Amino acid sequence: MTGCTKVSAGCDHCYAATVAVTKTRDAYLRQRPVKDTAANRADPFAPRFWDQRLEQPLRWREPRRIFVNSMSDVFHAHFSAEMIHRVFDVMAMARWHQFQVLTKRPERALRLSGRLPWPPNVWMGTSIENMDVARRADSLRQIPAAVRFISAEPLLGPLADLDLTGIDWVIGGGESGGRARPCQPEWARDLRDRCLGRGVAFFWKQWGGRTPKAGGRTLDGRVWDEYPVALSAVAE
Ligand code: SF4
Repeated sequence: MTGCTKVSAGCDHCYAATVAVTKTRDAYLRQRPVKDTAANRADPFAPRFWDQRLEQPLRWREPRRIFVNSMSDVFHAHFSAEMIHRVFDVMAMARWHQFQVLTKRPERALRLSGRLPWPPNVWMGTSIENMDVARRADSLRQIPAAVRFISAEPLLGPLADLDLTGIDWVIGGGESGGRARPCQPEWARDLRDRCLGRGVAFFWKQWGGRTPKAGGRTLDGRVWDEYPVALSAVAE
């Protein structure tokens, strides 16, 4: 899947949107969009479903951790329930890989969740960049995934009132790039402490800045690299 529509502040500097109109523009324009209108055919960031690539993970014999996905949102309204089902079927078949599905549309994920397979190698997450979208966690915690995670990246505000019930893992990080919005250390510290207090695994990816590595990734003198389950256990 490629292409999407911006839905909240975390989308403002969307990497997928930038890549779609630069590096991969010509390749995307050659693929028919899901909603086949003249406007979408001319828009490299209109949602596209790449049938021909769907079974690629089945051919990768070595176990991999696969992000689903970096160029789109699986639960965007243009993708039919059948398309989403096909993606989940491949993930269920490719049980030696570990898939991390991340969406900003967990409400639709919840609506479809009863019809989708939830094997242990499929982790389900939602992005929560500030309290405006904290309600996404309410949908996520009702989805019967083996691991439910929150991506607080880019962290754009305090998440002091975020309910972590039913959440296994939180990944945080600051924004990077030329227009990166600053991340306050107290937001990160508070989020970490609330995870520690509730037994939620915490991973701090980066502080961000002009480049992803500009600010380093230590928080209070150490790296936070926690995972919800041993990764080796997933591939067995
Ligand atoms: S949901 Fe994700 S892929 Fe879609 S516009 Fe927002 S940041 Fe980009």
